[in-house]
Amino acid sequence: NKQVVLKRYVEGTPKETDMEVQQSSRSGLTAPKGSSAFLVKNLFLSCDPYMFRRMRQYYGSYIPPFVPGQPIEGFGVARVIDSDDPAFKPGDIVSGTTGWEDYSLIRKHEQLRKIDPHLGVPLSYHLGLLGMPGFTAYAGFYEVCSPKKGETVLVSAASGAVGQLVGQFAKLHGCYVVGSAGSSQKVDLLKNKLGFDEAFNYKDEPDLDAALKRYFPQGIDIYFDNVGGYMLDAALLNMRVNGRIAVCGMVSQHAHSDHRGIHNLYNLISKRITMKGFLQSDYLHLFPRFVEHAVEQYCRGNITYIEDLSEGLDSAPAAFVGLLSGKNVGKQVICVARE
Ligand code: NDP
Repeated sequence: NKQVVLKRYVEGTPKETDMEVQQSSRSGLTAPKGSSAFLVKNLFLSCDPYMFRRMRQYYGSYIPPFVPGQPIEGFGVARVIDSDDPAFKPGDIVSGTTGWEDYSLIRKHEQLRKIDPHLGVPLSYHLGLLGMPGFTAYAGFYEVCSPKKGETVLVSAASGAVGQLVGQFAKLHGCYVVGSAGSSQKVDLLKNKLGFDEAFNYKDEPDLDAALKRYFPQGIDIYFDNVGGYMLDAALLNMRVNGRIAVCGMVSQHAHSDHRGIHNLYNLISKRITMKGFLQSDYLHLFPRFVEHAVEQYCRGNITYIEDLSEGLDSAPAAFVGLLSGKNVGKQVICVARE
């Protein structure tokens, strides 16, 4: 059983050497009898930015840190190999919290849910389009942003797991949507594959305020913020009266690499802007409605989903480090096995 373990708590930006791929001593492909644990074979594993917080010892987050020496924990899609629980039979496909390893012994059944392999979407999409990032886009856009047809929407990290769907939901809702992303390849995808009205590479814009004024001459009604920092500051300057900012993530702040700070909060008052942080987990009661919406729109061809598949557990440390430096194009997934 190959595993990817956290070697030590991360200081600064995570490096591949903070993780190690090793063989574990676990033997046998059965769950211990009478343990009510069950054994799964991991097929696809998710790389998500929040996991970086779990790699640090003191981080004041809402979820505990990883344990050094233990496999990294995250969302995955897996096949049940052995189980005493009649609700999970060998061969069933499940998604939920698992480990970065070939096989995981799952002790808490509530960590996993059975997925229907006949929905007409690739299994790996249960980590993106139909998984936590897709649900974040759905809850964040429809519930936090209170969108109206015809409004103007800015999305940052727009080609990523969450951003690409926020933009497409906003287009389906009749909004004008502009995405910011970190490469010309991503900008091209946003404009030519994902249906954004406009997109720009924020790294080519020395003055983000001027860039936003170019794309939003009348101002921004909704800013779906995935990055925080300098982009948030520029968006604050360009919001319209009664605008909404959904604070989804602050990936630019994870390694404290951006020290420019926020100077434009006064706009919250002068323009009566609502700025709301949210966690997708606060909205889980909407999950079944979300799955229905996303499957329907995907199967009708109204939305598309881009993922970046890296092959094999050995590739996991590089894939994770790449996620935080923008190497991923679309949802970052590690393919451990295809069946
Ligand atoms: P992505 O797939 O978008 O990957 C992260 C992206 O962030 C990179 O590809 C890169 O894109 C961008 N990025 C990295 N460093 C910087 C930087 N310094 N400045 C600006 N952009 C940067 O990730 P997700 O879609 O999974 O997550 C997006 C955000 O949503 C994250 O902040 C995450 O923490 C948050 N999130 C929040 C949830 C919630 O419940 N509130 C749930 C899930 C995610 P580029 O090349 O375009 O810069």
